[in-house]
Amino acid sequence: MAEFSLIEVIRERCAVIRDDVRLGIGDDGAVLAVPADHELVVSTDTLVAGVHFPLQTAPFDIGWKALAVNLSDLAAMGANPAWATLALTMPSADAAWVEKFADGFAALASEHHLALVGGDTTRGPLSITITVFGFVPVGMAITRAGAKPGDWICVTGTLGDAAAGLACVQARDDGAHELIGRLNRPTARIVAGLLLRDVASAAIDISDGLLADLGHICARSGVGAELCVDDLPMSPAFGEYADVSTRQRLQLAGGDDYELCFCVAPDRAPALLWNLAQNGCAATRIGQILAGHEIILSDDCGARIEIPQHGWEHFT
Ligand code: ADP
Ligand code: MG
Repeated sequence: MAEFSLIEVIRERCAVIRDDVRLGIGDDGAVLAVPADHELVVSTDTLVAGVHFPLQTAPFDIGWKALAVNLSDLAAMGANPAWATLALTMPSADAAWVEKFADGFAALASEHHLALVGGDTTRGPLSITITVFGFVPVGMAITRAGAKPGDWICVTGTLGDAAAGLACVQARDDGAHELIGRLNRPTARIVAGLLLRDVASAAIDISDGLLADLGHICARSGVGAELCVDDLPMSPAFGEYADVSTRQRLQLAGGDDYELCFCVAPDRAPALLWNLAQNGCAATRIGQILAGHEIILSDDCGARIEIPQHGWEHFT
């Protein structure tokens, strides 16, 4: 199948109508209108087959996940998603594969009323690069830089599921549907991100493991942190997976959670957590920001805990 017809397959399946798309797929560039009094938040992520998803991952799930990991970055910025571009590199012009891939992309895109406005289609080892565009009111983007000593550290949802799911896939244990589902179809915490705007002092999405990503907040904010490992939220399925120390390692250093880790001043924290829960995105306090630059781990008795392995680093 020709490149042109593949683009047509994608365009047909990803049709989302938005007034602010003055010109979408089909010309040399898209023409897009940013609403008055808003800023554009832009983020790009690449997924490489065998690196960012197992080779046997279903094409629908690859389409979903490629968009979800990008939406997760917009969520962490407190942005409202609007548009995306898709650079798809694949070994052969496989229309059946592209149909399922586009269906997965479209399922999540339509949930967020996100329009695919352009891209590129090339031949090579399977890799997907998506750029997402979202809006925030001027000056309202959440960054990694505002955490202050005394702030609560919180996370949305549960941690460790996706890393456990990956271990199940690698062990050819296909029975762990919930865990593998969390690996293949992460939830983008867009609603939570919008509620954090104007309240959270800092936020990041957890893609490389809680410790590594909280480390980015600490570095950018010039602070340290204390985490209570017994307070890390876990799903029922994850609670039955492996022993306590394996679970802790996956929760602290496993990747692919795509939950939000955020900091909030103590006087604003309870209302924010209540608001998040009311909106279907429960979050949990897992520690507090400290002065200094270290991340300290303790259990619920206050005893220090050592952990050998930090998050996923692409080039180590
Ligand atoms: P050009 O050669 O001018 O870059 P292309 O032939 O690559 O144009 O693409 C034609 C149109 O299809 C453009 O509007 C481009 O943005 C869009 N497009 C190409 N590949 C994709 C894709 N994978 N997903 C979405 N749109 C795409
Ligand atoms: Mg091109």
